[in-house]
Amino acid sequence: MQMADAQRNRSRRHEIPHVADSGRSSGEVPVAEELHRNTDQSEEKESVMAAQCALIMINNLSRQGENSIDPVVRILKNKGIDSIIVCLDRMEDISRLINRYQKDIDRIVIGGGDGTLNAAVKPVLESGLPLGILPLGTANDLARTLGIPVGLEDAAEVLAGGRIGMIDIGVVNDIYFLNAASIGLAVGVTHMLDRGIKKRWGGLAYPIAFFKAFRYTRAFLVQISCDGVNHRHKSIHLTVANGRHYGRGLTVRDDAEIDDQKLHCYSLEPQSFWQLFKAAPSIVKGTFVNPENIKLFEGRRIDIITRRPKQIAIDGELMGQTPAYFSIKDRILPVFVPAETPPR
Ligand SMILES: [Mg+2]
Repeated sequence: MQMADAQRNRSRRHEIPHVADSGRSSGEVPVAEELHRNTDQSEEKESVMAAQCALIMINNLSRQGENSIDPVVRILKNKGIDSIIVCLDRMEDISRLINRYQKDIDRIVIGGGDGTLNAAVKPVLESGLPLGILPLGTANDLARTLGIPVGLEDAAEVLAGGRIGMIDIGVVNDIYFLNAASIGLAVGVTHMLDRGIKKRWGGLAYPIAFFKAFRYTRAFLVQISCDGVNHRHKSIHLTVANGRHYGRGLTVRDDAEIDDQKLHCYSLEPQSFWQLFKAAPSIVKGTFVNPENIKLFEGRRIDIITRRPKQIAIDGELMGQTPAYFSIKDRILPVFVPAETPPR
């Protein structure tokens, strides 16, 4: 199994016990078996050089979570960065694992999709350590926004040789989000996207889920307050985004940035499938020029009130319901990004 293979690449430092989970359950790291000590003189020299260590948490349930991360460990090691690898079966374990290893590490790496990254935001923020991303999910929208390559080895190069950028975090009803929160059509899509569909169809799961969800979506009356200015209209779908990409490569606005200290919002008014089909290129690329049946907003505080509570899809997971009170935390999360394409 790849985690066992990764043990061969683990650290040789003395002062830090380096462990690699055997991969059955998160946090159940057989420490006694995994402690690695090396008294070789040449390794002594290496131990002096190695001053950095990554806690790499891999979500095995993510679409590509079963890939071997040996190349990642090797690339980090070549740059003098040691690795502690743990498998993540339950998102609730992220905080405990960070606390367990915090004194030994200088960065936290999440291997998973946007849902896993969302679950990691709060504990990573609390740790004060920078976040590294191995995009192993289906959508990988945050990686897309940050310009992090999807290939495992290229992503590892960012962890080893990138720079740290400070990014914004969106907040809705006290829940953090990195990419976007949506109401309406997207919730229907999220319902359709059970893990079986994603594992089976990969990227095709999204259009399949979209077509199914569109048939069942009903218009709803919404009141949007954007930085204190009120708007009322009927909607079938509404997205508030912190970054640029969401929903597997859709673009909220082509000039949106994840460090622009702004939330971008759009709302689709009721329309036929063919009208929506015509608008699709704008929705995919975020280029809304004289948009028909689409309302656009941007601001720092956005309140969304519906007559009846409506579910909210947050970074692709259903969490909470309307009324939804959005705000933004400015450039608060340090993230490894490519050195050559840093956020603005
Ligand atoms: Mg933004």
